[in-house]
Amino acid sequence: MLDPKNFMEVGLAFHGHKCPAMPLGLRAAVAAMNILEVERARDKELQVISETGKGHAAGCFLDGIMVATGCTYGKSNIEKRYYNKMAFTLIDVQGQRSVRVSLKPEFFARMLKSPFVEQRKQGIPPQDIAPEITGPLVENIMSMPEEMFLDIGTITPREYTRKAGVFDAESCSQCKEMVFIDKLLDTSAGRICLACKGKAEKGD
Ligand SMILES: [Zn+2]
Ligand SMILES: [Zn+2]
Repeated sequence: MLDPKNFMEVGLAFHGHKCPAMPLGLRAAVAAMNILEVERARDKELQVISETGKGHAAGCFLDGIMVATGCTYGKSNIEKRYYNKMAFTLIDVQGQRSVRVSLKPEFFARMLKSPFVEQRKQGIPPQDIAPEITGPLVENIMSMPEEMFLDIGTITPREYTRKAGVFDAESCSQCKEMVFIDKLLDTSAGRICLACKGKAEKGD
């Protein structure tokens, strides 16, 4: 069984500030990993489909999920659905199965009334909120039983096929920069990248 506390130090360093939502992501991700009995992804053994969006409270949740699962934008084993929901599905790619985890509505509704969120609403950056406010909230999240705040779905068979990686790159005939060939476009002006195509369409 993985312990979310083991990801806290890396989580804080990666995320950049202490807040309740990143640790919530650690807890939720580890719950999903433990039920699937999977380890942190070293490569692309796991895939996260996050239902969070952008520009809403508690989006930091996804940073916790990235840290614990090892599903990252660099490895492209994470996708966002922009549903603005505090939920995600973790796919065990090797086992072809998945589980969905979401925050319990009543817990999340309470959380949105916390003094941390009140200060955020007033425009105070998370790193400037007093440790006496943030600290106990984070401690509580890291110690409360999963059933108090998580809805953990059942393990579901899930087909997931990954496209083979592209290793061949060629120089764009306009900007001369190297481009992986699956994104080079054949045009009358030669093989060009998407950025040069955009410039040509805008006329600059
Ligand atoms: Zn945060
Ligand atoms: Zn180009």
